[in-house]
Amino acid sequence: MSQSFQPPQRTLMGPGPSDVHPRILEAMGKPTIGHLDPAFIGMMDSMKALIQYAFQTNNELTFCVSAPGSAGMESCFVNLLEPGDKAIVCVNGVFGMRMLENVTRCGAKAVRVDDAWGTPVSPDKLEQALQDNPDAKLVAFVHAETSTGVRSDAAALCKLASDHNCLSIVDCVTSLGGIPVDLDTWGADAAYSGSQKCLSCSPGLSPVSFSERAADAVRQRKAPVQSWFLDLNLLLGYWGSGAKRAYHHTAPINALYGLHEALVMLQEEGLEASFRRHRDMHIKLRDGLADLGIAFVVDEPYRLPQLNSVWIPQGVDDAAARQQLLAEYNLEIGAGLGDFAGKVWRIGLMGHSAREENVDLCLRAIKSVIS
Ligand SMILES: *Cc1c(COP(=O)(O)O)cnc(C)c1O
Repeated sequence: MSQSFQPPQRTLMGPGPSDVHPRILEAMGKPTIGHLDPAFIGMMDSMKALIQYAFQTNNELTFCVSAPGSAGMESCFVNLLEPGDKAIVCVNGVFGMRMLENVTRCGAKAVRVDDAWGTPVSPDKLEQALQDNPDAKLVAFVHAETSTGVRSDAAALCKLASDHNCLSIVDCVTSLGGIPVDLDTWGADAAYSGSQKCLSCSPGLSPVSFSERAADAVRQRKAPVQSWFLDLNLLLGYWGSGAKRAYHHTAPINALYGLHEALVMLQEEGLEASFRRHRDMHIKLRDGLADLGIAFVVDEPYRLPQLNSVWIPQGVDDAAARQQLLAEYNLEIGAGLGDFAGKVWRIGLMGHSAREENVDLCLRAIKSVIS
């Protein structure tokens, strides 16, 4: 006989998932009801308002994709791009590369604007690309690059896009809830996030939001959206206000209870207080790491408080050290990706993971494995 699975009790300080608050786990354990039950539909309406709050937007077309952040990303690209369109993609890490891949798989032409890993997207380079490509339809970039720990200037990049009559797609997977995300102030046209980073819910859900301009672009498409599941025209019959809630797919009911609770908790704490907590914990971690002689990869003004990329100290075996953290301290931190593999650790302070006891544990554990 197989046994029930008993996961170990870990402290999650990597690039996501983050620690899930017990209140959220409890919410997910509540009774499953039908996804067209009036009580469930009421919860969906409430969730929509909560996602609007988190994104700081009045966009009507704001809802949750029943799949992880990568599907939120894909929903933006497949709806806004048609074969033959041109899109400018800013690449300064792994997730920018994925955006690029999405563009080409939509049959669109990608113009790539590169910045070095560990540095933000350069508005000057984007402006040059916009001037060189007056036929571009959209600009895509990552607000918080989780592969490097860099924050880019979303307000400036969205403004450049709209000044050149382009739509903008912003990856807010790691930023939402951890640093200010202001879709309406930025004038962003499409944004997506994930449940398991600074929202501290279990993985597998992607809050998304589209401006009226983006919705118009979808309505004016000549070609149907190649993805049936992610086609906004169909999803609106499910999530749209006053929609008849026709069956589209069966919502992940209990997972949505969890995200709803996570968003209620974010609203209770308040966005400003959440941003402050992430910043305070980052400073505490930064100072403790400095005492251990561990240096940051990213220059101070561009650092993400919720994702701290640091150089692995000389002479320390990356894999062995992380294995020891897990085995002896039940602590997970992130490895470096791509060019940073073996050179960098990524220490996450996302959502419920951004708290004093986690920072203390992390500093104590790293100190012991590097000495
Ligand atoms: C985690 C992440 C994603 C992908 O989200 P999944 O839920 O893993 O699919 C996309 N973009 C960024 C910046 C991320 O950090």
